[in-house]
Amino acid sequence: MLVAASLFAMGAIFGSFLNVIIYRLPRGESIVRPPSACPECGRRITPRDNIPIVSYLMLRGRCRHCKAVISSRYLVVEALAGLVPVLLLWRYGLGREALVLCLLSYVLIVVSFIDLDLRIIPDRVTLPGIAIGLILAPYLGLTTFGGSLLGAVVGGGALYLIAIIGEAAFGKESMGGGDIKLAAMLGAFLGWQTVLLLLFAAFLFGALAGTVAVRAHGSDWDRSMPFGPFIAIGAFVATIWGETILTWYGMLLS
Ligand SMILES: [Zn+2]
Repeated sequence: MLVAASLFAMGAIFGSFLNVIIYRLPRGESIVRPPSACPECGRRITPRDNIPIVSYLMLRGRCRHCKAVISSRYLVVEALAGLVPVLLLWRYGLGREALVLCLLSYVLIVVSFIDLDLRIIPDRVTLPGIAIGLILAPYLGLTTFGGSLLGAVVGGGALYLIAIIGEAAFGKESMGGGDIKLAAMLGAFLGWQTVLLLLFAAFLFGALAGTVAVRAHGSDWDRSMPFGPFIAIGAFVATIWGETILTWYGMLLS
């Protein structure tokens, strides 16, 4: 319980740093300088107002000075970043496997929110990510080198194929190059079985969200949802429950 609570707190602190990265990385700004300030009044955010989750709740989501509303997204990212290591600990125990999967999840949080904001998935994240996955995944025993390489090819290839088919069928781009590279990166880290499972989960969640959105906004709703966040959710589901799902599936087939 105590370990879980400290992991949550540490994760949430990391989360406030992820918030900075999400905003500054695509804008080409330094992620260490200058210190955070209120976008409305420009006043620096002091350490006591920079405590993850707690400060947001104490200030009721407003700037201490000008009372400008601070997006609840800061709270969401901090809470997610706190929950991730707790869930990974529960599933994998303390160890380097959990540590790497935690860092990978943080990369996915950053990518998802950048994709939501700007509809881009930066190559600066995914291209080095593919290389790091190919080296790190076999080293850590997440998969073999062959499994990692095949994962990158299968993950990227599957989305590339869907992109081509989608463009032929609907005459517009449905899947961006960023999504393809993100799937290749995850394949390199998680291996080909898990990447297929996570893409399946991503399409399932995407379809569900699309249905809900059409219900809420009517059928004239423009269907340009970023796909990155669904890939991220699929990846997390696959890393936590993938083995269980694949075992069930194996039992169903046999
Ligand atoms: Zn302010």
